[in-house]
Amino acid sequence: MGSAVYTETDENNDTLKCFSVLLLYYSHNEMQELIKYGKKIVESGLAHSHFGNVSKRVGDQMLISTTGSMLDELEGQIVTVPIDPASPDELDVIASSEVNVHRAIYKATSALAVLHGHSKYAVVMSMLCKPGEQMQIVPEDSESIYFLHEIPVVTGGIGSEELARNAAQALRDHKGLVVQGHGTFARGATVDEAFVILSSIEHACMVKYLCDMARNK
Ligand SMILES: [Zn+2]
Repeated sequence: MGSAVYTETDENNDTLKCFSVLLLYYSHNEMQELIKYGKKIVESGLAHSHFGNVSKRVGDQMLISTTGSMLDELEGQIVTVPIDPASPDELDVIASSEVNVHRAIYKATSALAVLHGHSKYAVVMSMLCKPGEQMQIVPEDSESIYFLHEIPVVTGGIGSEELARNAAQALRDHKGLVVQGHGTFARGATVDEAFVILSSIEHACMVKYLCDMARNK
């Protein structure tokens, strides 16, 4: 029987194992957080179950919901992909169809979480923006003005490079936006902060829509 000799390679392997365990631990927590907020988005009416998507940045990777998954049942439906892959990542085919928009936002801003919803009043208000006019929604209630200022409205097809570019550009100076005729994107330093922004945009748009209705009665 030979005696075991602990070498430098063993030490390196142990260090790698420790990092892997740590990464798994953090990924598990981040995953649980995304599952929780996916449910909250649907419960709050900020997206229907089969629409919207959520992601969270962990270092140079992001956890993101898969395409076609139900936002209120994300268990086993979250994948990890690189923020800035050298070539298309093999998991991109099952990641959200808007993975490129999330990537562009992470690359252009300090966001650590990005949420996407399809809330009704935000979509309606964005559709009332006319080409040639300033593409933004200006809230009327004081809370929304304080937190959101004006809400940019951007264009671009679902998951398109145009949308990725426009959303990333708008979110450099704002925490949330509405994609015209489509839905909302919010960024945050935490998932909770992004959720507050997503909710606030819908609240601002609902109040503004109802005020406009009341005035035109
Ligand atoms: Zn969408």
